[in-house]
Amino acid sequence: MTTVAAYAAPAAKAPLERTTIERREVGEHDVLIDIKFAGICHSDIHQVREGWGEAIFPMVPGHEIAGVVEAVGPGVTKFKAGDRVGVGCLVDSCRECENCEAGLEQHCLKGSVGTYNAVGYDGEPTYGGYAQKVVVAEDFTVRIPDGLALDVAAPLLCAGITTYSPLKHWGAAPGKKVAVIGLGGLGHMGVKIAHAMGAEVTVLSQSLRKKDDGLRLGADHYYATSDEKTFQHLAGSFDLILSTVSAPLDFGSYLGLLKTGGALVNVGAPEEPIALNLFSLIGGNKTLAGSMIGGIQETQEMLDFCAEHGLGAEIEVIAASEVNEAYERVLASDVRYRFVIDTATI
Ligand code: NAP
Ligand code: ZN
Ligand code: ZN
Repeated sequence: MTTVAAYAAPAAKAPLERTTIERREVGEHDVLIDIKFAGICHSDIHQVREGWGEAIFPMVPGHEIAGVVEAVGPGVTKFKAGDRVGVGCLVDSCRECENCEAGLEQHCLKGSVGTYNAVGYDGEPTYGGYAQKVVVAEDFTVRIPDGLALDVAAPLLCAGITTYSPLKHWGAAPGKKVAVIGLGGLGHMGVKIAHAMGAEVTVLSQSLRKKDDGLRLGADHYYATSDEKTFQHLAGSFDLILSTVSAPLDFGSYLGLLKTGGALVNVGAPEEPIALNLFSLIGGNKTLAGSMIGGIQETQEMLDFCAEHGLGAEIEVIAASEVNEAYERVLASDVRYRFVIDTATI
């Protein structure tokens, strides 16, 4: 066991504070990672505040991890000391069920193991990336291409894959009109990636406050959803809408913005259920779908795609002591566009 410094919430809703945690010995197929940067995802906040239900405390959040390999176990073949690597939302799965075989480890039928707020197959709680080091199985570690700096790469491990996977699956491409709801951590990566895939991209944000940023990030159009006229003007416009909103939304209104046969794919994970009049789906043969992160191989593919297209996250690097303040700003939709903790400050 190695003792490492970390930032943890001691109890639900409590502010995060500096502490120490134990990391397991580097096993046969493990990689010891010296964490350099850890992104702050809104999911960290939902979990620290038990918005999704009972959680495990103390909690060290963080599933957007970028760092450098410090040591590897004797059976490791894919990585060596000095390699630039990342870890996302998963650190283990059964590796043999139908979904694991298909590269969908996030949907492992035996249950995938989350990077934090989870219990591993060894019975031990997992602790995430707001820490100086982590030990992870090589099969759940991905390579960060040389073209991506570690700080702007960190958010790709969740925000990047969570938007890349559905955009690819649902056909964002030249000739397609794609809208992204919410210009936060996920949303800004959704805009960049959909643009790089060749789609015509529209941002649907609560206000026009971030319009200049949205257009700079690759959007062709930008509308405020607080303006009722937006829904009239854009009715029947889009092939695909990706919702990244962290709060319950009136999906019925947004389904009205789809073309016949279009799809609204939701990746937001609000704490409350929504009500939906199903006539908004029936009329126009529309699809309402969901998507959860992506598998390990697809995460590598996304990182390679982002490196090839020069896509990193837009970040604000903070010291670990600023994490509680950063949470408040994320909750106030005042993030531009991902907070990233410099783990040297822990
Ligand atoms: P974020 O940075 O806070 O972005 C969410 C954005 O949604 C905000 O910036 C805001 O954009 C918009 N928004 C917030 N409250 C709203 C409201 N009441 N009405 C309308 N729009 C609102 O959060 P994030 O890190 O991108 O995460 C977004 C959600 O996805 C969270 O629920 C998170 O847990 C979830 N998530 C899911 C997955 C998955 O695998 N499916 C993975 C990661 C995260 P504007 O200011 O532009 O309106
Ligand atoms: Zn996340
Ligand atoms: Zn499995």
